Amino acid sequence: MKDLAGRIVLVTGATRGIGKAIALAFGAEQSRVVITGRTAAALEEVAATLRSTGAEVLAHQCDVTQKPHVESLRQEIEKRFGAVQILVNNAGVAPAADFLEMTDKLWDEVMRVNVNGAYNCCKTFLAPMIDAHWGRIINIASTVARVAYPGIAAYATSKHASLGLTRALAMETARSGVTVNAVCPGYVNTELTRENAQRLAEKRGQSLDQALAMLAASCPQRRLIEPEEVAYVTLMLASDRARGITGQAIQVDGGAVMA
Ligand code: NAD
Repeated sequence: MKDLAGRIVLVTGATRGIGKAIALAFGAEQSRVVITGRTAAALEEVAATLRSTGAEVLAHQCDVTQKPHVESLRQEIEKRFGAVQILVNNAGVAPAADFLEMTDKLWDEVMRVNVNGAYNCCKTFLAPMIDAHWGRIINIASTVARVAYPGIAAYATSKHASLGLTRALAMETARSGVTVNAVCPGYVNTELTRENAQRLAEKRGQSLDQALAMLAASCPQRRLIEPEEVAYVTLMLASDRARGITGQAIQVDGGAVMA
């Protein structure tokens, strides 16, 4: 996708998992990649990997729930590269709990990161995209933006909200050269999935491998999705040639959800 070379892309929560895979994929396209996360050491490790491939990279510590962090991120990016052209809202948390046992603290944290975090970034980075008549916002949602399962009320609510924000912004930006889409992965082979599988294993008296196999079996392709597969769809949506795709939610789930 030659048109991604030189583009300024911001990936939130890029220290591991899907965010890291997306950052590396844009780096391979010679985009200018801004990676953010909360831990300096983890960020530096991903930045070093990106630099070793020849990519131009800016690593900046940023908790997306903190608006002043996002504002200082904007200033830093504009000083170094210019205005963000592609925003990938990837940072997210997915703690599980049955609704009646769930604490208010868990609910608040999921909303703060998954909903307010994406809101803070859209609010900060959208206006310059509209001014430039070109931009891409890609929200990493989930299949649970479309369906729900027991034990994840907060997460499912937050991902439905992510899709709502995607659609609302797509409508508001439709004539501005900006597209806004969501990528909806099923179970992806990341630390987050391993942590959730570990909790599931403890609850059911299973091994971690058995819990992971159960998650994989829920996918018609009988496997976990790899982070690079989510990155591929993100690149596609960021491309010039995807300018007609906006307000969409694209599943990368091996056929698990077909609604
Ligand atoms: P992960 O836990 O491996 O990575 C999440 C990243 O977000 C980490 O870098 C973490 O530090 C960062 N993060 C969390 N809170 C943050 C905050 N307040 N500010 C900045 N960064 C923060 O998770 P993952 O599996 O790579 O998931 C990435 C995204 O994909 C999430 O939004 C998740 O909901 C979504 N997703 C994951 C799966 C899956 O099966 N793993 C499935 C569907 C959707």
